[in-house]
Amino acid sequence: MNNRPKVAYSYINGKKVQGRSTNEFDVYFPGNGEKLFSTFESSVNQIDEAVDVATIAQKSWKNFSTRDRGRILIQAAFLIRKYKQELAEMEVWDTGKPLSEALEVDIITAADALEYYGNLAITLHGDYYSLPDADIFTKVEPIGICAGIGAWNYPFQIASWKSAPALACGNAFLFKPSELTPLSAVRLAEIYEEAGLPKGLFQVLQGGANVGQALTKHQGIQKISFTGEAGTGRKIMSDSSGNLKTLTMELGGKSPLILFSDVDPNVAAKAALSANFYTQGEVCTNGTRVFVEESFLASFKKSILEFSNSIRIGNPFDLKTNVGALISKQHLSKVRDYVKSGIDQGANPIEFGELPSDPWTNGYFMKPVIFYDCQDSMKIVQEEIFGPVMSVLSFKSENEVIERANSTEFGLGAGIFTKDINRIQKFCDEIESGMIWINNYNLTPMEMPFGGTKQSGFGKENGLDALQFYTKRKSIYYSKSEVFSPF
Ligand code: NAD
Repeated sequence: MNNRPKVAYSYINGKKVQGRSTNEFDVYFPGNGEKLFSTFESSVNQIDEAVDVATIAQKSWKNFSTRDRGRILIQAAFLIRKYKQELAEMEVWDTGKPLSEALEVDIITAADALEYYGNLAITLHGDYYSLPDADIFTKVEPIGICAGIGAWNYPFQIASWKSAPALACGNAFLFKPSELTPLSAVRLAEIYEEAGLPKGLFQVLQGGANVGQALTKHQGIQKISFTGEAGTGRKIMSDSSGNLKTLTMELGGKSPLILFSDVDPNVAAKAALSANFYTQGEVCTNGTRVFVEESFLASFKKSILEFSNSIRIGNPFDLKTNVGALISKQHLSKVRDYVKSGIDQGANPIEFGELPSDPWTNGYFMKPVIFYDCQDSMKIVQEEIFGPVMSVLSFKSENEVIERANSTEFGLGAGIFTKDINRIQKFCDEIESGMIWINNYNLTPMEMPFGGTKQSGFGKENGLDALQFYTKRKSIYYSKSEVFSPF
């Protein structure tokens, strides 16, 4: 285990600086439960300073040509790929997730975002309408000072997915990572500047809810892009109303994954395992309500057992590990409580894999659990668990499963495995979710807009759509006729 982190800085005005608040927070390595360090939150004065610096920097950044803005982002994407190993290891120290995932998903999808929006920057444009009496133009302008508040499950990816379109559109960006995962956003700030981004355009503030709240209430910030729990999202909506901030809300989910009997049971089993146990189940879009057609249940269960030997829990730095540690002791205990509640309510659990031995015994590991014989009303089926816990439910008909899949407050993702095209069409028409995967799950290429509906939020990241959430339009009426007046 190399490069054990010793400190998490804030990044303000082109410099790494210690937080100057009197509030301290502790950062742990989930892999062995050891405290890595304590660090201070950014102070109110530091937040004000970052907003002031961003405001000055953004005034010239918005006048950079889109080509120049794009070139810097593309160079930063190149640097992220160059530093992939270092960044992935940093992400493992912070999150406890397997290094193999951080290398191939977290860091690569971050680089993809910078490259994608770097290339799209030159396509930003307004519209033109020719009318007999006037020419109408729309100008696309940056919103100004945007802030991102992130969750802990994909810290580097979240910072990149939010900042890349923001910067491409000519905004300045302030990012507050989760207090549980403060490391990698600061490295992203350094990488942006190494790629040529002027200082003040991407800054990092550290701390917990109160720092998030200070950003949310700040009159100098015009937009918040938030990733986290629905309850926190509601507080942010209310706190940000003072200056009517624009918002993007990427919130929780309890997504359905529907498996019909016309697919290969091994494919269905692999999909369900990956849709639930990837990143120890700490993925917002996970298909945690697995609806299996009743006639298919026995072969699905048999296939699941065949794959169970492939689960390797433990040392997150070992490239063979595919289930890492959960983020914190508190979160592990919360997920275990859900497992207990599933048992108490009559679902049948099967655990997989072996817990690791010394020196990993104090890490926040748990064996992935599949619950069979679940009922829709059970707590484990209703609530987001955000851990490696899969609930399997059986169904008989298309109409029934769509209705049950929709009976949740959330609407983030949904998946269907079937060969029947009519069924797929019906599912796409009727399912209430922001994203749908057909015969695959949880893949998020940059071209695919990412975001939910209902209590899973609003607004989109990724795709062309994200550009509209980091710009505003100005409409211009250029008259070609006499002045209109009834007077
Ligand atoms: P959380 O809501 O507890 O915290 C998220 C962030 O908000 C943290 O940075 C935290 O410090 C900050 N925060 C907390 N209270 C705040 C307040 N009152 N004002 C401003 N900021 C505040 O969520 P979490 O536990 O970090 O993350 C897990 C949740 O995130 C899950 O619900 C998961 O589904 C969701 N998530 C959603 C997506 C998505 O894209 N839809 C992606 C990842 C995670």
